[in-house]
Amino acid sequence: TTTKPEEGQEEEEEDDDDDMNEGNTVIGLLGGGQLGRMLCEAANPLGIDIAILDEHNAPAKQAHNTNRHVVGSFKDPGCIKELAARSDYLSVEIEHVDTEVLEDIEKNGVPVEINGEVVTHRPPIHPSWRTLRLIQDKYLQKEHFKSSGKTIPIAEQIAIESGDAALDSLKKAGKQFGFPFMLKARKGSYDGRGNFKVDSEDDFAEAIKALGTLPLYAEKWAPFVKELAVMVIRTEDSDGKLKNCVAYPAVETIHEDSICTKVFMPPRDVSEDICEKARKLATEVISTLWGRGVFAVEMFLLEDASLMINEVAPRPHNSGHYTIEAVPYMSQYKAQLHAVLDLPVPDKLIPRVQSSIMLNILGGAKPDSHHHLSGLARSTYDDDMDVYLHLYNKESKPSRKIGHITLTGFCSVQELEAKAKPFIDLVDQIRL
Ligand code: ATP
Ligand code: MG
Ligand code: MG
Repeated sequence: TTTKPEEGQEEEEEDDDDDMNEGNTVIGLLGGGQLGRMLCEAANPLGIDIAILDEHNAPAKQAHNTNRHVVGSFKDPGCIKELAARSDYLSVEIEHVDTEVLEDIEKNGVPVEINGEVVTHRPPIHPSWRTLRLIQDKYLQKEHFKSSGKTIPIAEQIAIESGDAALDSLKKAGKQFGFPFMLKARKGSYDGRGNFKVDSEDDFAEAIKALGTLPLYAEKWAPFVKELAVMVIRTEDSDGKLKNCVAYPAVETIHEDSICTKVFMPPRDVSEDICEKARKLATEVISTLWGRGVFAVEMFLLEDASLMINEVAPRPHNSGHYTIEAVPYMSQYKAQLHAVLDLPVPDKLIPRVQSSIMLNILGGAKPDSHHHLSGLARSTYDDDMDVYLHLYNKESKPSRKIGHITLTGFCSVQELEAKAKPFIDLVDQIRL
């Protein structure tokens, strides 16, 4: 089966049957949102071709011209096989993909026709479908860390029964953890959309109403003082053995209503010692997984200065956007390309600025609610603070991530925060 080229593409390019990316290595990417878009922005100057599987004109497709894009869903097995047939490697910008078909492609390959002959094509998949499948289920993900043989602290958790048994199961969680505790969807969650904070037994009915149709688990409340995140590059030998896990600096992430709004590098009021521990822990966590690529490790910093793992994302991540400008020789996107293609990556990742703040631009009540903020980014020049605007060309909807602003400084993060106040005030206003 062949998927048709993008509508209109044939007409536009009728005199150009040529392959504009001829000879370039092709990474097939499942998903074409802003992460894929920024991956394409990193790939373009490197002469790497990215074939995107997503809907027509998805944000990533707008950023990279190729005749290999596939129109369809990254959950559709037929589309994923079509993408595989067009690609030298496969990777993802989102973990919620069909891993059965990825496993099938790794084991059995896909047929492709070369010079009239059908051969079996097996593009390497990074990170491994094993990692994607494990991470898709947040409960199993953490059970894995618990039984990995490494010291990886996680919140106590129990699986919640579905259907009529859910209520008893929630009662058990309340007894075991006390209140509040967090009820979470095991799969498919992002931006906190599958989470429900349970404050008392009185919330059980509402919690079941909100999430009851999904496989669930309960997590003990983590009384954190801060949330930290560390991006890690994972590389492997050609025989699939772990080569290295290299950590970026630790950052502080601020979540409001469970959605990441701000990122501070370095974390404010956190010792270098704790930042080093966070990086060490992140590399331990990622060493237990499979495949090459960049990974995000989200964690909680508790009152007693200990760290606890919240969850892992097997791809570039919102908390790593700052690396585009702060670690320009190896941003998280370039690192993803290098890791997937098994190109060299540095064994130290040292930022070229002293501090950085990333502010998410979330859609507001009106389609133009963010215009003041983007206008300020366009008009601010400051000797001590550089301002970088990234818009994803997504339709604005309330609380949707439609862009971000990175600020970098040659000053302390506190001084940068003071300079950034007009930006931060506008970011906060959009949410009101
Ligand atoms: P993401 O967009 O990062 O994938 P998600 O939907 O998977 O988000 P989580 O990371 O599980 O959601 O939780 C979102 C936020 O909710 C966390 O960043 C944290 O602020 C809060 N949170 C999650 N688990 C707990 C917990 N056990 N105790 C206290 N707060 C929690
Ligand atoms: Mg998550
Ligand atoms: Mg999270």
